[in-house]
Amino acid sequence: MLDLSDSALLRDHAYINGSWVAAQSGERLAVTNPADGSLIIRVPAMGAAETRQAIEAADRAWGPWKAKTAKERSAVLRRWFELIMAAQNDLAKLMTAEQGKPLAEAKGEVAYGASFVEWFAEEAKRVYGDTIPEHMPGRRIVVVKEPIGVVAAITPWNFPLAMITRKCAPALAAGCPVVVKPAEDTPLSALALAELAERAGFPPGVFNVITAGDPKAVGFELTANPKVRKLSFTGSTEVGKLLMAQCAATVKKLSLELGGNAPFMVFDDADLDAAVAGAMASKYRNTGQTCVCANRLLVQDGIYDAFTARLAEAVAALKVGPGLEGDFQQGPLINEEAVRKVERHIADAVAKGARVVMGGKRHARGGTFFEPTILADVTPDMAPAREETFGPVAPLFRFKTEEEAVRMANDTEFGLAAYFYSRDVGRVWRVSRALEYGIVGINEGLISTEVAPFGGVKESGLGREGSKYGIEDFLEVKYLCMGGI
Ligand code: ADP
Repeated sequence: MLDLSDSALLRDHAYINGSWVAAQSGERLAVTNPADGSLIIRVPAMGAAETRQAIEAADRAWGPWKAKTAKERSAVLRRWFELIMAAQNDLAKLMTAEQGKPLAEAKGEVAYGASFVEWFAEEAKRVYGDTIPEHMPGRRIVVVKEPIGVVAAITPWNFPLAMITRKCAPALAAGCPVVVKPAEDTPLSALALAELAERAGFPPGVFNVITAGDPKAVGFELTANPKVRKLSFTGSTEVGKLLMAQCAATVKKLSLELGGNAPFMVFDDADLDAAVAGAMASKYRNTGQTCVCANRLLVQDGIYDAFTARLAEAVAALKVGPGLEGDFQQGPLINEEAVRKVERHIADAVAKGARVVMGGKRHARGGTFFEPTILADVTPDMAPAREETFGPVAPLFRFKTEEEAVRMANDTEFGLAAYFYSRDVGRVWRVSRALEYGIVGINEGLISTEVAPFGGVKESGLGREGSKYGIEDFLEVKYLCMGGI
């Protein structure tokens, strides 16, 4: 059983209109610990009817919430931030239990998630409009920004807390109520956030969490209901495209954070120690299960062998195990399907001539634990070149020239994060400009922060989260033309 100092953070009901509710059908969904498959708790398996109730509650809450002053909304967000940080240890334990990431990483995610609440508590007060010099005598032109309306947020399991706050904090700050549908694997962080939101003083209906039995039915209601004015989704490109199509009928605004296929390029002139440290942070964080994880390591000919040897040393030091039981750097993968995808990528690469430098198979701990893996001599015809592996596998590609590296890096339909290591200032500027990506890490493997805009180009998505840009996605521009002056 989970040993929480605040047991009220472990909830087994969904949160709609300020109340903790069961599914109308009475059905429940098991939430299990991926480290050992054990049952943590069961949550309501909700569908379209409960989703509609939540949307209606949010719609009723919209008027009074947007009518509050920015400072009043800011104060509630600030309290939420403080409550999240005060509960950091409990929230981290809950997250490790439902998601599997090492406890230290879970604590880091709580702080990262909370940072968006703090940031947007501040930004709430800085939603400025504009005045425009009139085009005719006797007129005045004023531009105001207004909250877009009810927001639906559909979030993934890899960051069970931070993907919720990254969407909801700017929405709430702007004056929009939210209906969140967390991933079925990880609803507990979302429900704990709802408990803390209630304590922070969000009025009923402003923040709602639906736990879905059938994500398709809930997703359909969230995208078809005309009262929802905006969908913010993080997840697979496949589901993102489906939701985008479903939103077309009511012309909803969209923010989409979809898949990536991040290149991580190491040039001959790179600082090798820094490149190895960056590759470790980018590749093996969350056991390789993030959309900005290095998916393809492109290494220049002259340092290929040296880089491979140093990376292997670093990977050999990673300890694999259950996050609640010790100091491990690698947890289990989220489920069996994830393990099978990793196995398929390795098998495809090896069948076409790649070499296993390290790992390559399920870990002796069993379950969904996997050995941290390095593959060398990987080429663009192999599965890891085209698809996101989402696991602890570092495939090493070889390149000769800068031009070839950029071509390989951009040879994908995705465009979320890219990384490269070089100490040549001319190359740094050339490559930064040539990369078709929303985020570029230059001599840096960790790029996520609440102060900078996170988001992708091409099929990686629409919109930006975090930073001064993040609140814009939840605002509409209204132009007031005043005559007769
Ligand atoms: P992953 O492969 O990372 O699990 P998904 O895109 O399947 O990515 O899941 C991300 C989120 O999308 C989860 O909350 C999941 O429940 C939700 N989801 C999956 N299918 C649908 C759907 N048809 N409609 C709405 N939400 C969906």
